[in-house]
Amino acid sequence: MIKRLLKIFLIILIIVILIALALGAAYYFTEPEITLNGEESMEVTMAEGYQEPGYEAKYWFIDITDRVEVDSDVNDKKVGEYSVNYSVSFLEKTASTARTVSVVDREPPVLTLNEGETINVLTNSKFEDPGYSAEDDSDGDVTETVITKGIVDTYNPGTYTISYSVSDSYGNEAQKTRTVIVDGEPEVKPDKVIYLTFDDGPSDNVTPEVLETLKKYKVPATFFIIGYSQSEEHIALLRSAIAQGHTIGIHGYSHDYEEIYQSVPDFMENIKTLDEMIRTDLNYEPFVIRFPGGSSNTVSESYCDGIMTDLVQKVQEEGYYYTDWNVDSTDASGNGISTDRIISSIENGCKEDQYNIVLMHDSDAKQTTAEALSEVIEWAQEEGYTFKAMEKGGPTVHHRVNN
Ligand code: ZN
Repeated sequence: MIKRLLKIFLIILIIVILIALALGAAYYFTEPEITLNGEESMEVTMAEGYQEPGYEAKYWFIDITDRVEVDSDVNDKKVGEYSVNYSVSFLEKTASTARTVSVVDREPPVLTLNEGETINVLTNSKFEDPGYSAEDDSDGDVTETVITKGIVDTYNPGTYTISYSVSDSYGNEAQKTRTVIVDGEPEVKPDKVIYLTFDDGPSDNVTPEVLETLKKYKVPATFFIIGYSQSEEHIALLRSAIAQGHTIGIHGYSHDYEEIYQSVPDFMENIKTLDEMIRTDLNYEPFVIRFPGGSSNTVSESYCDGIMTDLVQKVQEEGYYYTDWNVDSTDASGNGISTDRIISSIENGCKEDQYNIVLMHDSDAKQTTAEALSEVIEWAQEEGYTFKAMEKGGPTVHHRVNN
């Protein structure tokens, strides 16, 4: 009987020892474990913010989640790399893990146009942009960095588009456009004014003579130049024109119709090439274009159907005014046109109630234009006309587009 009890006791003892050993081994080999919900490496935007996706902690089969301590430096109002550290201890054993959080900015600035996206202005008035503001969640006030593009030519009724764009430091861009409708009765009436314009220069012979005459009569004018040779003489000639108060317009680097009216990009490249030369050589910012052949030309149709319709829009969207003419000196109808014909064409063409934009040429072949100039100026001054150089936002004339 005793022997049997002893046997049972031994078996129980062995079982207890085995259990104790098992528990001891379990304790020895078991570590607390933290499991993160969601990604270990997270990307969140400033707009959505950071929300802890949660975690679980276990020691063997025991839930110790509520013992986890979380230490986070995440600032979801500021772009950066942050970390969230998780640690837990249980029965003097500890475990830790971490999550990395990248806070990124995907939000463009908020661009606001004062007075709305469509505005009306009166014909011949001076256009001033009503302004705008831009506020960014990362960069704050970025109004200063807004880029505007496009012009409003109030001297030619129609619909114009100004585009505005702004980016934050993380490349998020906001864009808006404003439609400006020019119509209504002219706010300002012309007052006996003549704008003399000279195309196709500079030339070695005619341009210096023209400049001399203009200087003598203290008359300002505008030169629509072509791609001059970047010789010191040409640069000096153009610089002295600017110094005399004349303005410089773009006619085009090349004047070759076939080349420039091939496509819109070809035309724009021709303009930009000369624009950059003018800025570099003359430290001057050109603002006005005259299309070779005028905006009404039909010669362009042989190279590209409809190109003038596209170009008049395109150049204005790119920030250039363009002008044709309403008084033709006829000096382009041949070489050596008589001074009498040039003078009478201008006298007959100028009218009190329009902004007279006179087409003339100062290429080498136009010697008679230079010769006629004094008499034209004297006639106009006797008639009470004043002369002006074309200016940014000032009068222009547009022909009807025929292609
Ligand atoms: Zn020309």
